[in-house]
Amino acid sequence: MENWFKYKIKFFGILTIAFVFAGMSRPTASTSSNAWGFYGHKRINRVAIFTLPPEMFGFYKEHIEYITEHAVDPDKRRYAVKGEAECHFIDIDHYAVGGVNPFEVVPRQWTKAIEKYTEDTLHAYGIVPWHIQLMKLKLQRAFEAKNVDLILKYSADLGHYIGDAHVPLHTTENYNGQLTGQKGIHGLWESRLVEINMEEYDYFVGKSQYLSNPLNYTWGVVEQSHYALDSVLRFEKELTEKFPSDKKYAFEQRGNTTVQTYSMEFSQAYHERLNGMVERRMRNAIIAVGSFWYTAWVDAGQPDLSKLQNIPPSPELLKEIADLDALFEKGEKQGRACEH
Ligand SMILES: [Zn+2]
Repeated sequence: MENWFKYKIKFFGILTIAFVFAGMSRPTASTSSNAWGFYGHKRINRVAIFTLPPEMFGFYKEHIEYITEHAVDPDKRRYAVKGEAECHFIDIDHYAVGGVNPFEVVPRQWTKAIEKYTEDTLHAYGIVPWHIQLMKLKLQRAFEAKNVDLILKYSADLGHYIGDAHVPLHTTENYNGQLTGQKGIHGLWESRLVEINMEEYDYFVGKSQYLSNPLNYTWGVVEQSHYALDSVLRFEKELTEKFPSDKKYAFEQRGNTTVQTYSMEFSQAYHERLNGMVERRMRNAIIAVGSFWYTAWVDAGQPDLSKLQNIPPSPELLKEIADLDALFEKGEKQGRACEH
């Protein structure tokens, strides 16, 4: 226990330094390149723990710092692992050929979707709804094996991908407004607005629920995200017409660098016009994450997690994470270099 405590201090100390460094060397990272921003993803995973039933809560509470900090590992992997980027989104409008409703033509099941569109096409336009199912299964297997390392790793990862599926701009080819002259909107919606307003949000979301059909539930999430897209784009456009560009943008000091960002006035006018949308998507993401963890545990036969308490993550897992951080620090993004 004492060793673990020392480890934790040392490890999280290094992590803190790494984040400060990341903030200085990549000043725009927190506002433009990570879904929900680092802050949003961490908050979603953290609060999701409080939706869990007592049989799970003790274990997750013990590892709350791990689950919180590692909510952003999948975004870091995008710098290191080819094939990771597509796990974070689905450009569902790519399939809306001739104005059809893409949710009616894209098969929900992976094998049927492959038959219809080929695996290459699915990978090219994003696989988040299916990747969530894979991660849920991996978490379930980790519970069955009572493997603390893997339970922590897959819980944190699964929370990330579910969070991404709740972001409207993760469901479109126009993911950063680049097709409509609104470049930068991705970071504005999911990072800047969240960072400014997240402390005001209401995080009492209720209890996690057992999902009898996780795949259908996930598609429902993607569908809701996509239906919100029209407002996300339209409101920004309408406001831009009212704001001269010297009022729309501002300069902020981040570490040693001055960066251009959306002004507070513009950001807040947009947030207000969205009328609670960011908070709603975040709240839905929290309950979804808790529900997926809970469902994986139930489907694994409800193993007694109290027997897994006081077991820290192994040195091997900590090393894997340290290696990932090192790659993230120096790495170039693999795959689509975008705001997904
Ligand atoms: Zn992501």
